[in-house]
Amino acid sequence: GNSGMIVSFGEMLIDFVPTVSGVSLAEAPGFLNAPGGAPANVAIAITRLGGKSAFIGKLGDDEFGHMLAGILKKNGVTADGIMFDQGARTALAFVTLRADGEREFMFYRNPSADMLLKPDELNLQLIKSAKVFHYGSISLIVEPCRSAHMKAMQVAKDAGALLSYDPNLRLPLWPSPKEAREQIRSIWDKADLIKVSDVELEFLTGSDKIDDASAMSLWHPNLKLLLVTLGENGCKYYTKNFRGQVEGFRVNAVDTTGAGDSFVGALLCKIVDNQNLMEDEDKLREVLKYANACGAITTTKKGAIPALPCDSEVQALLKG
Ligand code: ADP
Repeated sequence: GNSGMIVSFGEMLIDFVPTVSGVSLAEAPGFLNAPGGAPANVAIAITRLGGKSAFIGKLGDDEFGHMLAGILKKNGVTADGIMFDQGARTALAFVTLRADGEREFMFYRNPSADMLLKPDELNLQLIKSAKVFHYGSISLIVEPCRSAHMKAMQVAKDAGALLSYDPNLRLPLWPSPKEAREQIRSIWDKADLIKVSDVELEFLTGSDKIDDASAMSLWHPNLKLLLVTLGENGCKYYTKNFRGQVEGFRVNAVDTTGAGDSFVGALLCKIVDNQNLMEDEDKLREVLKYANACGAITTTKKGAIPALPCDSEVQALLKG
């Protein structure tokens, strides 16, 4: 269709994932290398559902970087905002699957190419074309990329884009909730739409209760929509005028990687051409049901990108 452009900004990287749980990557009998990086997953989630997206980020001028750029292009994501660093290598994530199913990350970032993105390298024309600008980098505290990220967000906002933010907090990178809150504040306070997971909400508030009061303690006056994802239980939503929960779908989950990105991609796909749905609770609930269905389907297959659904798969789950 003729939908508006959604620009997703942050890193794309390779996840090295052991084939078994409960051991480190070094001890595993085998591993897979899977393309990842939350903002890249979001960009592909959008095109797979029939929307229009671009990815902006920096890769190494190495075999991994070119492979990742190729995956974006093959999936119909506009690649005009991708840069290649001539010195540093593409970011890598070494994943440990803990026995309890949680994932732990170690990153190659000494620095990796994404961290070296400079403000004067940004494709400003592409950023200005965004109806929705989604930010989801894990490297927002590092210079020079922090300055580039802040500039991109400002340019998008000045051009009238809706600003969406997923903090994607990776706990080893964030020594304390206080520090995390301080570092993300400059972005948090600009965002129109914020999505956090229940785990991130607990971390940011320092409370193990996920209730309306703890969610609302993160509210800021210019925010239009705050979402808290609850895994199989769906999501909670908060706006100025209403709040509630939309139940999730019961599926046979085998790998939850990318579920949150799939959820965000689906939501942005629906919001980009209908920004006032955030003021209409019935319409918003319908869209969140769709986003929950996308997230649920993503958990039924291994990996993130291979598991992102197309619209007809989502419609099939919604029909039941
Ligand atoms: P994140 O991936 O950011 O941690 P969640 O795990 O909460 O986020 O998942 C995002 C969304 O994906 C949820 O709101 C829900 O709609 C869907 N989802 C995630 N896990 C499951 C599951 N086990 N069963 C059904 N739906 C799920």
